[in-house]
Amino acid sequence: MEDKARILLVEDETALAKILGDYLNHAGMEYLWVGHGGEVMDAFRRYRPDLVLLDVMLPGVDGLTLCREIRKISETPVLLVTAKVEELDRLLGLELGADDYICKPFSPREVVARVKVVLRRVRPGARQGDTVFRCQEDAQIIYLHDHRLDLTPTEYRLLRLFLSHPGRVYSRDQIVDLTYDMDQDVTDRVVDSHIKNLRKKIAKELPDREVIYSVYGVGYRFELAY
Ligand code: CA
Repeated sequence: MEDKARILLVEDETALAKILGDYLNHAGMEYLWVGHGGEVMDAFRRYRPDLVLLDVMLPGVDGLTLCREIRKISETPVLLVTAKVEELDRLLGLELGADDYICKPFSPREVVARVKVVLRRVRPGARQGDTVFRCQEDAQIIYLHDHRLDLTPTEYRLLRLFLSHPGRVYSRDQIVDLTYDMDQDVTDRVVDSHIKNLRKKIAKELPDREVIYSVYGVGYRFELAY
């Protein structure tokens, strides 16, 4: 079971947004369109996108400010879209935390290709203030506050799943599908016990703070609460 990638499409030119949206849909992604800078952070929190396609020149709050705001609370990749090549030079010099830059005019096809590239290289992680989970996938290690968490392979896969979509609720069936080997006979109780162990290990670094929430009658959700 694979979820569709969710793109927050921030663009104040309606016609352009419509074209880009169609291309994203066509490439198997879903999107939420926001045309005003002042509505972006709310939409970001609500929609929990996998990537933000962010126009620089916007009414309300500009894209550069928004990029910084997003970086304060999230590792979600941001693709900045700028109207001028000259502006690109300036953008590259700024520490915005953007993952890539695209210049207008562009072909929608190119934009979708760049979106795919950035999505592929995403490192799962989560950040809230000073609390940072970081996943080093090649070595199968997860760091919390720069300390390596001592995880079993199953616990690693569980936490990696949660970090790939903070805030998303996973049922136990989904967790089994996405983190266990097919030939393993995994009961709900096995999942619960692995979650319990994972919580204990995280609690060593983050005492008095819950990050893996039980969702009654459904499953579990990871979140770094404010
Ligand atoms: Ca614009």
